[in-house]
Amino acid sequence: MKKEEFDAVRQQLGGVSRRDFLKFCSVVAVGMGLPLSAGVKIAEAITSKKRPPVIWLSFQECTGCVESLLRSTHPTLDSLILDHISLDYSETLSAAAGHQVEAAKARSIEENRGKFILVVDGAIPTKDKGIYCKIAGKTALEILNETAPHAGAIVAMGSCASWGGVAAAGVNPTEAKGVPEILNGKTVVTIPGCPPNPYNLLSTVLHVLTFNKLPELDQKGRPKFAYGRLIHENCERRPHFDAGRFAMAYGDEWHRKGGCLFKLGCKGPETYANCPTILFGETGAGTWPVGVGHPCFGCSEKGVGFSTPLHTLATIKDFTPPTFFAEAFPNKQGIPGGLKSLATGTAGLVVGAAGAALLTSLGKKDDGDDRRSDADRHSGDKEE
Ligand code: SF4
Repeated sequence: MKKEEFDAVRQQLGGVSRRDFLKFCSVVAVGMGLPLSAGVKIAEAITSKKRPPVIWLSFQECTGCVESLLRSTHPTLDSLILDHISLDYSETLSAAAGHQVEAAKARSIEENRGKFILVVDGAIPTKDKGIYCKIAGKTALEILNETAPHAGAIVAMGSCASWGGVAAAGVNPTEAKGVPEILNGKTVVTIPGCPPNPYNLLSTVLHVLTFNKLPELDQKGRPKFAYGRLIHENCERRPHFDAGRFAMAYGDEWHRKGGCLFKLGCKGPETYANCPTILFGETGAGTWPVGVGHPCFGCSEKGVGFSTPLHTLATIKDFTPPTFFAEAFPNKQGIPGGLKSLATGTAGLVVGAAGAALLTSLGKKDDGDDRRSDADRHSGDKEE
C-alpha cells in the first residue's frame, strides 16, 4: 500500500498511524484464518475507492446489534465500516427520514442490482401475514422478500435475524423467523450473537471487499473463522473446569476466584463462537461475559440460546482436547494414536461421566498406575 493511498484515508480512520493500520489489517487477516500476507490485500481493499453499497434493514429487534457496532471504541472499527461502505439505507442511522429515505433505498437497489450487501438485523414476524412489524406501510416480510432477490450478498446480523432469537423465544407470539428460513434456499451469512461481535461483521465485509466472495460458512451459515470453535475450547476458565474447581453459587469462593461457571449453567461447552478470543466492548483490557463472571447463555447457538434455561447444565459436545494438553501415555507402546488423543481429551473433562469412565477403563486395561489415579482425581464431583 502506497503512503499516498493511506494518507487519503487517514482522516477517516481517526488519525491512526500507518503502522497501526497495517497491524490492524494483519490481525483481521489472522482472525479470518488467512496468512499474514493477506493483511496487505485487505489494507489495499480498504484504501481503494470501492465502497460497496449496503442496505441495512432493521425488523423485530432491540437495536442492540447496531448499538454494539456504534459503541465500539476502537479507533478504526466504526470508521472502517461506516466510511468504507456506502450505507445507502438504515432506519436507525440514516439522517433522512420518511419518503426521502425510502426513495434513496429504491434508487440504491435499482442502481446496484446484484452488487449491494443486504444486512438484516431483527426477526421477521410471519403470523397474520406479518402485520406485527411494518415500515413505510409494508410488512417486514414484504420488504425482505422484495429486497433480497436483488442483493449481491445477504448478512443476517444477530441471533434474531439468524433464527428468530429473542422474538421467537418461548411461545413466539408473532411466529417470528430468521432470514434464512424466510429466504429458504438463498445463501445467507449468519452472524449470530446477542449482540453479535462487530468484528465478525467487519471481517465478513472486508472478506467480500478483498476477495470478492463470501468467507467459508458452516452448516448454519456462520463464517467458520468466527464460529469454528467452541467457546469452551478457548475459555480462560477452562483450567478450572479441568481441575474441577467450580463456582457453585454467585459470589462463592470459586466464583470470586475465577473458577469454572459450568455448574451455574454456562453453555460454553455447546456454543460455537470466538467471544473468548476477540472479546467485547474494548473497555481497555477487553472483556466478555464469562470473563466478568456471567455464564455463557449460548446466544450464538440455535437451539441453545433463548431455548434452554440458564440453570440447566450444558451438554458436553466435543471431547477434543485443548492443544496445550500433554500427550497421553507418552512413549507407551501399542496404543493407537487416535485412542491416545481421545484419552487425552477425556482426561481433561472433569464432570463428563462418560469420559471419566472411558479413561478409567483404559487405565485399568492398559496401564493402571498413574493414569488411573489421574482419572480418579478427575472423575466428577467427589467434593460435592
Ligand atoms: Fe469456560 Fe463455561 Fe467452559 Fe467453564 S464451562 S470453562 S466457564 S466456557
